Amino acid sequence: MQLDAKIPSGPIQDKWDKHRFDLKIVNPANKRKFDIIVVGTGLAGGAAAATLGELGYNVKNFCIQDSPRRAHSIAAQGGINAAKNYQNDGDSIWRLFYDTVKGGDFRAREANVYRLAQVSRNIIDQGVAQGIPFAREYGGQLANRSFGGAQVSRTFYARGQTGQQLLLGAYASLSRQIEAGKVEMFTRREMLDVVLINGQARGIVTRNLVTGEIEKHAGHAVVLATGGYGNVFFLSTNAMNCNVNAAFRAYRRGAFFANPCYTQIHPTCIPVHGTYQSKLTLMSESLRNDGRVWVPRNPGDKRPAAQIPESERLYYLEEKYPSFGNLVPRDVASRNAKEQCDAGKGVGETGLAVYLDFADAIRRDGQDVIGRKYGNLFQMYEKITAQNPYEMPMMIYPAVHYTMGGLWVDYNLMTTVPGLFAMGECNFSDHGANRLGASALMQGLADGYFVIPYTIGGYLAGGNNIEDVTTDHPAFRDSVGYVQDRITRLMSINGKRTVDDFHKELGQILWDYCGMARNNDGLDKARTMIQGLRAEFWENAMIPGKTNDVNQSLEKAGRVADFLEFAELMVMDARHRQESCGGHFNEGFQTEEGEAMRDDEDFCYAAAWESKGVDADPELNREPLEFEHVKLTQRSYK
Ligand SMILES: Cc1cc2nc3c(=O)[nH]c(=O)nc-3n(C[C@H](O)[C@H](O)[C@H](O)COP(=O)(O)OP(=O)(O)OC[C@H]3O[C@@H](n4cnc5c(N)ncnc54)[C@H](O)[C@@H]3O)c2cc1C
Repeated sequence: MQLDAKIPSGPIQDKWDKHRFDLKIVNPANKRKFDIIVVGTGLAGGAAAATLGELGYNVKNFCIQDSPRRAHSIAAQGGINAAKNYQNDGDSIWRLFYDTVKGGDFRAREANVYRLAQVSRNIIDQGVAQGIPFAREYGGQLANRSFGGAQVSRTFYARGQTGQQLLLGAYASLSRQIEAGKVEMFTRREMLDVVLINGQARGIVTRNLVTGEIEKHAGHAVVLATGGYGNVFFLSTNAMNCNVNAAFRAYRRGAFFANPCYTQIHPTCIPVHGTYQSKLTLMSESLRNDGRVWVPRNPGDKRPAAQIPESERLYYLEEKYPSFGNLVPRDVASRNAKEQCDAGKGVGETGLAVYLDFADAIRRDGQDVIGRKYGNLFQMYEKITAQNPYEMPMMIYPAVHYTMGGLWVDYNLMTTVPGLFAMGECNFSDHGANRLGASALMQGLADGYFVIPYTIGGYLAGGNNIEDVTTDHPAFRDSVGYVQDRITRLMSINGKRTVDDFHKELGQILWDYCGMARNNDGLDKARTMIQGLRAEFWENAMIPGKTNDVNQSLEKAGRVADFLEFAELMVMDARHRQESCGGHFNEGFQTEEGEAMRDDEDFCYAAAWESKGVDADPELNREPLEFEHVKLTQRSYK
């Protein structure tokens, strides 16, 4: 299929303005005639539901938690980017655009990224107006810090709780609309299918997680903002109920899934410490502003950090990348940590850790200053590891954190299914093969507050022949049947192995063969292993409890069943991309210095997969990427 990204014509600086003018507008009096379903209440979904309600649409908003404000966005620590240039340190829309395209290893769409950089400035204004307590300088100006992949300070933050504060802002706006009756909130509902009528997305089917009831909801358009799928690895920094099922159901109904193999591994997480862990904890990248990363210069040196003299410490990022130092992008920092550990220089009991050391910063600025900047993160580290990071270096190691792949969307954020939109981490759009820090919150809020309100109006008013339908339509009946069958099938397995155990094994396969580094043999092996594990799951999974009750095992089983199908797609995508770029590092394609080596000649495209059913290979569709403004070059942070 020929993918049409619907990128507006004209100079890149004017595309969004021109497009907003060209898009048809729904007359204010007509907006109340349209029902919009928004699945997800994180920064993307919460912002969208609030804004669409404010505009006058009837919004139905869904989430799996007991409150919209428990969406995973609440966990975001470090900050949100915006090209405000308050510091006069050389930032601009153009520089943010440039850094993001380059950081994503030239695998994102230029037009989208430029719009993101433009809109980033409005997000901060909106946040301030909502009362987000962003950190401020003495004179009252909003403070900024730097993040990986940038040489300017453009990251706005509220200590280490930026996501939480931004989510509270969106939640307050959302609550206003709930109270006004424009948003109907459905908590503890899990979307299990999207309903298509005449090829258009016209509703969803959900399971009420309290009563087990299967529910039908119709609308004129459906917006998915259901987050990322990092949890497919079992161990990740994501909240444990993050999943792929909404996006994957949409994929099975015809929405293409783009670049599933691009996983971001975050370099500064608390290392894995045992086999009974279910979650990993991120230490924000902002810590690398003041913390220096090092390992012993000599392999096998097991002395405590304090006993290793300065001359025997290897500050490998500072030595190798003098321009960016500890603030290289995440893929580069992660790979270098792995390289040092593989060479026997890893620290701690497992040897799978490096130091993040604040001693110099504390000597320079004093403990109070460092405490004010990162206090809650230091406290969190101490609670988990029982070590005081003010006194001894933190130990960190890379962990799965974010997924750049997602549903393919055009410039309007519409998937290949008309009327089905995808936003935030659930779409593939703006980060290419690697996401720079503080850019996910930026994208989620840009999509929710400043893009979808225009583009969904363009769709609804754009002569798409969207007749009114009700949930009595046979398409809803079919969808309910499909959902119920799958639940019945799960409940009748009656096996012996827990769902968590399957998930854990799947995660290990992916980490070993489709993780920080991949190679063709490993990927082939992983595919066979995943198929075998999936077959075993459907014969031997143990799911206690009842269908029509609160049943977290059943919820989990449904998600793991989807992960078991989706994981194969990830591996296939990784196998087909015979190059290395950003979060996809195939060991067969690297420079002499061990950096990712792209093949722009053959792979400068977004890979959009089209489902052909569970037992058939999906079809690969390519959206060629053109780089008119940021020259395709080998990425260098030296
Ligand atoms: C520990 C941590 C720290 C981070 N720090 C930063 C940071 O400092 N800066 C930054 O830019 N990014 C950060 N990120 C990334 C960022 O937090 C996420 O990418 C972003 O918040 C995702 O927002 P979202 O709205 O797309 O999805 P989410 O916030 O994940 O929301 C998903 C929503 O969808 C709902 N949902 C999911 N599936 C279903 C379903 N089937 N049915 C119904 N509802 C469903 C959920 O209930 C939820 O409401 C961090 C991530 C982690 C893990």
